[in-house]
Amino acid sequence: MSRDIAAEERWRGSRGRTDVRRLPEKQVRDRAALDALLDAALVAHVAVTEGTQPYVVPLAFARDRDHLLVHGSTASRVFRSLAAGAPSCATVTVVDGIVVARSQFESSMRYRSAMVLGTFVALHGADKERALQVLAARLLPGLEGARPPSEKELRATTMLALPLDEWSLKVSAGDPEDDRADLGRPVWAGVVPLQHTWGEPEPAPDLAPGIEVPPAVTRWPGGRA
Ligand SMILES: Cc1cc2nc3c(=O)[nH]c(=O)nc-3n(C[C@H](O)[C@H](O)[C@H](O)COP(=O)(O)OP(=O)(O)OC[C@H]3O[C@@H](n4cnc5c(N)ncnc54)[C@H](O)[C@@H]3O)c2cc1C
Repeated sequence: MSRDIAAEERWRGSRGRTDVRRLPEKQVRDRAALDALLDAALVAHVAVTEGTQPYVVPLAFARDRDHLLVHGSTASRVFRSLAAGAPSCATVTVVDGIVVARSQFESSMRYRSAMVLGTFVALHGADKERALQVLAARLLPGLEGARPPSEKELRATTMLALPLDEWSLKVSAGDPEDDRADLGRPVWAGVVPLQHTWGEPEPAPDLAPGIEVPPAVTRWPGGRA
């Protein structure tokens, strides 16, 4: 079997880019763990460089099997750059707690954090409409009543997909790791867990009387991080 040396070198190079070097023991290579984080979070921070200036924009997103989906205005500068094939980096982070050590230096956070490198692809036609449905199902789960986009609204929307080809996942889940010399200090150390919960739904001020909160909304707390 002939070897594609160039492809192997590309693979090695790309693997190197997403190898966690700083605290590598926190790297998780399990794709199911990546999916679990992406399916729990609501916001991705997406980076693009224009000239020498990097910009990072927070965007609502959804995972669609092996892609991250984001959508935005066709007038958006960042979306125009990404749709034109600018290299990008997307991060998704959930903070799970504050780690309080006996020194400020060793204090840190519990977190799950993903980084995806690659190039977004603009979706069109049936692919775009399907992606919008995936995004709506993720961000408005169970709320089929909302009106789908009109032709004009579709034209004003750019839908982008980033392949989950080159990614890293870093998970920090430990306890304080103090220097031995600090262990005797008479100060509290531990972890303060941070949980993300939904509040009581607030009806729109102009909601017609008699429309109850749908069961899908009252079920939301179970499905989100
Ligand atoms: C909520 C939160 C708070 C943090 N606060 C701090 C802080 O205050 N100070 C600090 O130094 N670090 C902090 N970190 C860790 C930080 O994100 C970096 O991992 C760290 O700074 C090392 O960066 P580096 O470029 O040297 O990583 P390297 O290990 O050299 O990065 C190499 C590759 O590892 C992967 N990688 C690195 N970091 C992450 C990550 N967080 N998630 C997924 N993949 C990653 C990427 O693919 C990257 O290309 C925090 C992380 C999170 C999630």
